Amino acid sequence: MPVPKKRVGHSCQGHRRSNWKATIPAINFCPNCGAPKHLHTLCGTCGFYKDRIVLERSIADDLDEPETSSEETTQAE
Ligand SMILES: [Zn+2]
Repeated sequence: MPVPKKRVGHSCQGHRRSNWKATIPAINFCPNCGAPKHLHTLCGTCGFYKDRIVLERSIADDLDEPETSSEETTQAE
């Protein structure tokens, strides 16, 4: 197992970490409903992915009845 030869100082650590940059996540728009969504994921609003509806029950349905959905999850566990 590789072991560091010497302790890295705060300055070196800072120089190395200065290249870490936060990137904006790629946002796409759903072709079905136009809502913003992440690439290669199904739409959280309408459950649409690759020209077909994958998920019938969408997040919009969960928002209408938050109490019933939470009860369902507790019963499932
Ligand atoms: Zn959609």
